[in-house]
Amino acid sequence: MLRLALSCFVGLLLSAAAQAAPELKVRADFPNGSARVESIDQATRTITIQPHPQPERGWVCWWYFKVEGVQPGETLSVQVNGSGFTIPDRAAFSEDDRTWKQTEPGEKQKDRIIFKQQVAGKEAWFAWGPPFALKQANELIQRWVKDSPHASAFELCKSKDGRAVPGLKVQQAGVKDEERLGIWVHARQHAWECGSSWVGRGFVDWLLSDDAAAETLRKKATVWIVPIMDVDSVERGAGGKNQKPHDHNRDWSDQPIYPEVQAAIKHIAELDKAGRFDLFLDLHNPGPGDKQPFFFIPPPEIMSVIGRRNLDSVLHACQAEMRGPLKLDEKPRESGANYDANWRRISKNYVRAKSRDHVVSVCLETAWNTPNSTTEGYLRLGQELGRAVERYFREATRGK
Ligand SMILES: [Zn+2]
Repeated sequence: MLRLALSCFVGLLLSAAAQAAPELKVRADFPNGSARVESIDQATRTITIQPHPQPERGWVCWWYFKVEGVQPGETLSVQVNGSGFTIPDRAAFSEDDRTWKQTEPGEKQKDRIIFKQQVAGKEAWFAWGPPFALKQANELIQRWVKDSPHASAFELCKSKDGRAVPGLKVQQAGVKDEERLGIWVHARQHAWECGSSWVGRGFVDWLLSDDAAAETLRKKATVWIVPIMDVDSVERGAGGKNQKPHDHNRDWSDQPIYPEVQAAIKHIAELDKAGRFDLFLDLHNPGPGDKQPFFFIPPPEIMSVIGRRNLDSVLHACQAEMRGPLKLDEKPRESGANYDANWRRISKNYVRAKSRDHVVSVCLETAWNTPNSTTEGYLRLGQELGRAVERYFREATRGK
């Protein structure tokens, strides 16, 4: 009895000690994870990391990690070393790796930022923005196909590393096949730009919804959506942008090196040849100082009179619909020779130049460094983008 009481007492002491100072640990050994731990100060509960460097795979700006050993209720300090694109004003934070919120604004210095976050449970996840990796893309596509008779899955290709690149096709019985509009939407040619995949998800959620405008669009168009183009960089937790020898959005040429770009070009060219291609939407996230979404548009030299008129109609429809917390900046930006020497290899420019005159091809850059750059904000913008697309095809005369 005495021995039992003693062992209980010792046990209580041990658990009290453990409660006082559980050991904080950081893990990023999962798909899309990225962190190089610089230090963990167990006394001040401060974790210091930087993105895991993979310089050959583009910008070192993406970070996403799990913290274990949290004393429930305690406040952690998370310091991220880096600058510019690496340090958002607010970090993404989750207690279940599914539901993402923003932290309060961090304390920013030139080459680092420190976030403080109270954590309710024993573990937490922190990231540059709300993560969206291959697992989420596959789960969503499965759910969309299960829940909607108008959605079907397709495999765009196998990536260089051998991963299946998933896509979704949406159409509802309506107009004859030869009259159907063709719309291509993809995100994540740059792996770190997770917000663009959330915008794509918002677009699909709306497209498959009961909204009468969504049904109208499903009946007259076929929509192809690829939530993640550069799946290999996403799964490796790399930035992807400006990777060697070039990234996906400088690969749109007659000799593309990435299987995803090869497959997309082939698919789009076939649609265009059949007279069933009308709109190309390339989804991105811009620079840290861009506080509103905006469009990059092709330069005038690769647009016909009809193409320019249709582009104006798309921009007009987007200005009318994209008025939520992430409100569209009405001034588009051109990406021609003055923007990049390889401007012809940017996807929207390549598609514009190679497709029929009436086809509109644009890149939507969604602001990521604002209080509204949350999963809710991104989903809403995607929904507004869907409404804008439907409005464009309702109001414009396409002029094929
Ligand atoms: Zn980008």
